Amino acid sequence: MTSRISDSTWKDILTHVRVHYPDLARGWFVRLSPEGLDSGVLSVNAVTHAQVGYLNDQCGRAFGEAAQAAIGRLISVQFETDAPPEEGLEPLSFEKPESYLQLIPDYMFSNFITGPCNRLAHAASVAVAKQLGTAYNPLFIHGEVGLGKTHLIQAICHEVREQKPDLNLMYLTCETFSNHFFEAVERGALHQFRYRYRHADLLIVDDVQFLADRDRSQEEFFHTFNTLFQSQRQIVLSADCSPGEIPSLEQRLISRFNSGLVACVDFPCLETRMAIIRTKAKLACIEMPEEVVLLIANRIQSNVREIEGALKRINLVSQERNDGRVNLAVAHEALGVSLPRAIVSVQEILNLVTKHYNVRLSDLQGKRRTKSIAFPRQVCMYLARELTSYSLEEIGGSFGGRDHTTVIHACKLIREKRTEDPEFDLHLEELTRTLVGVIHRPEERRPEGSTA
Ligand code: ADP
Ligand code: MG
Repeated sequence: MTSRISDSTWKDILTHVRVHYPDLARGWFVRLSPEGLDSGVLSVNAVTHAQVGYLNDQCGRAFGEAAQAAIGRLISVQFETDAPPEEGLEPLSFEKPESYLQLIPDYMFSNFITGPCNRLAHAASVAVAKQLGTAYNPLFIHGEVGLGKTHLIQAICHEVREQKPDLNLMYLTCETFSNHFFEAVERGALHQFRYRYRHADLLIVDDVQFLADRDRSQEEFFHTFNTLFQSQRQIVLSADCSPGEIPSLEQRLISRFNSGLVACVDFPCLETRMAIIRTKAKLACIEMPEEVVLLIANRIQSNVREIEGALKRINLVSQERNDGRVNLAVAHEALGVSLPRAIVSVQEILNLVTKHYNVRLSDLQGKRRTKSIAFPRQVCMYLARELTSYSLEEIGGSFGGRDHTTVIHACKLIREKRTEDPEFDLHLEELTRTLVGVIHRPEERRPEGSTA
């Protein structure tokens, strides 16, 4: 609600400034005019941009104090002008569309995987995109780096763009907001700045934790926030921590940020990570065997951006080494890691191989060298070498007391056969998947992943 102030109050304010700050007072102050009072902010109109620049730089405090004395409560004063932008000057950054964030096409709701870690943030974002200004206002999404905050808020942008292309949507980082603000102050263009920001239908500010140490832009943000909020414009904010944890954020902003819905994005559980990997692989047209999905999901647990980095590396190595085909070996090399060794036991390998090749356990562990026995035994040695952390000697010992050179020979043989015989390669991939799957099934059934 904007209210006018009386002529005599305005006169008192000017007099107060002249008496208490004679050095600051200027003759042209008589041509300043009070525009109105709105939520503790008195807007004062000046004639030129230069005057606004001077008032902002030098006189904010003097006028604030004078207004407080004349009106009797805490008032801050902002200066603006209706003068057209000055000729010959570079346009202000906040007037250029390219100074706002561009949307990444893939950051849509349809590519966002939900799990227990982000369900609330996702649902709230969807609701906000559907019912701007009324579902949850403001929506504040927080969480550690790389967990999908930017993805979610861009998904809101995409959705709104599509549904209501004419809306005035502003999406930027808080860094940009501050830079625009300081530029406006410097160029005496606060009026345009405020006009631009306070006419947003939807204001989305990413990474507001950077408001922390910028006093004057915090103040400005507070007023922008209030203006938009009071006219039911939607505000969406993200940060790497909750409002109360943002260092040196003023209490009044904390309580504003907390006044709508605060939703956290957490670390994704195994199942969610696997689903994210499948989605990202599909978007990048990478065919990704399940055991590689599982390998990545197990290796990288805390940051989805790192998962994407791993996918890129794996894709690159697969191009160089394997005609673009991704398998465990490629993934190993790309990630510079070995499989989660010693999780698979030799016994599990034996059980699986005896079943698949229809041989007896005693044969595999015995001395016979007939091909029908020797071959499955070599497969066992290879799998043990790939999937457990046993040494060559230990593996040799488990299969009829053979020495390490026999194991090396077996692994070499199987590896060669894999490269020569695609069908066999596939078969071994399946055996591996079964083995790796066996040990991970209990984790997949964790209740965390299954709650809807
Ligand atoms: P933040 O802003 O929280 O640091 P981002 O939104 O930039 O994180 O996410 C980092 C990357 O991880 C992005 O490429 C994003 O698409 C992806 N990502 C994060 N969470 C998910 C998810 N739940 N589903 C799909 N992709 C995700
Ligand atoms: Mg981000």
